[in-house]
Amino acid sequence: SPRTVRVDLGERSYDIVIGSGLIARAGAEIAARRPGIRCAVITDRNVAAAHLDSLVASLADAGVEAAPLVLEPGEKTKRFDELVRVCDHVLGARLERGDAVVALGGGVIGDLAGFAAGIVRRGMRFVQVPTSLLAQVDSSVGGKTGINSGHGKNLIGVFHQPELVLADTDVLDTLPIREFRAGYAEVAKYGLIDRPGFFAWLEANWREVFSGGPARIEAIATACQAKAEVVAADERESGARALLNLGHTFGHALEAATNYDSARLVHGEGVAIGMVLAHEFSARMNLASPDDAARVAHHLREVGLPTRMSDIEGGLPPTDILMTHVAQDKKVRRGALTFILTRGIGQSFIADDVPGDEVFRFLEDKR
Ligand code: NAD
Ligand code: ZN
Repeated sequence: SPRTVRVDLGERSYDIVIGSGLIARAGAEIAARRPGIRCAVITDRNVAAAHLDSLVASLADAGVEAAPLVLEPGEKTKRFDELVRVCDHVLGARLERGDAVVALGGGVIGDLAGFAAGIVRRGMRFVQVPTSLLAQVDSSVGGKTGINSGHGKNLIGVFHQPELVLADTDVLDTLPIREFRAGYAEVAKYGLIDRPGFFAWLEANWREVFSGGPARIEAIATACQAKAEVVAADERESGARALLNLGHTFGHALEAATNYDSARLVHGEGVAIGMVLAHEFSARMNLASPDDAARVAHHLREVGLPTRMSDIEGGLPPTDILMTHVAQDKKVRRGALTFILTRGIGQSFIADDVPGDEVFRFLEDKR
């Protein structure tokens, strides 16, 4: 039976429904909440091949008219001309403000379709049907939408909360295993931030999470609950939401240092290595035990994720170049940096006075 996680945002509160076979019930779920609603379904070619027909059929069965638009898969689709296509599609289908944009796909489709929903007719209803593990536990929850710019990733966008998230855990069976693992890194992250019991549960149950069934639903529901709490406490990302960046400072630097080449490193893989580095660096600063870092590395490695910089094929640029990415364009390269560090499994905290030269020496030793 499905699990429901409530994202508590006053008037804009919404449900995340997580369960098996939800796509077949999506039409009924949407029609029950908003009778008479019409939708534009935005998706990509990979997802359309496996899941678009069942979603459209379920909408039709519930009497919900749907106009699908299939885009090219991949990060490159998060750009201006694709945003214009989505907006034109929604307007061309003559949808009104009270109608819905439905995102059927991973984080790329969710971010792009959510942005369009946020700006067409000054903000339409938005429904997320996330189909990657990363999208189910992270990008579909929280209302951040947007596209990339030549100046960097995710620099153009709006906060626009969905009014319903339907996470069908069966659709993950068609997700490439590498993408599943990458999303799993974000699942484990919630344990490492502040849920040590969840991390221990994952160590015991990860095989069932990968193979499907109740443990998968449980893991995704726990991850969504964790993200929902952080989002409710800090909707516009001013403070506490920063803990979600555990592993991401190093991870983003590794992604940038490999030119965002997904053949070499996908985001969740960078986060996996980054989380291990954050634990190892914390141990080096005498904040945490090295045993905890070893435990994190062991678990991520056993599920098949990379855990060391040397796992990345093709080598990395020199440490001072890596450091420019770590310091994220800030002028001070060796000055004080903000990092998510930890006192142990599930005891992460925001450290805003991390000496850049310590980070430099650490990365130099680790490569
Ligand atoms: P993605 O959307 O590119 O999906 C990964 C790949 O899996 C794609 O090739 C896609 O076609 C395919 N796919 C997805 N679901 C599938 C399924 N069920 N069966 C078969 N193939 C499937 O990438 P992603 O990892 O889902 O998301 C990454 C994006 O999310 C990035 O652009 C990132 O910036 C964004 N993001 C946003 C937030 C946020 O808060 N808005 C948070 C984290 C990440
Ligand atoms: Zn991430």
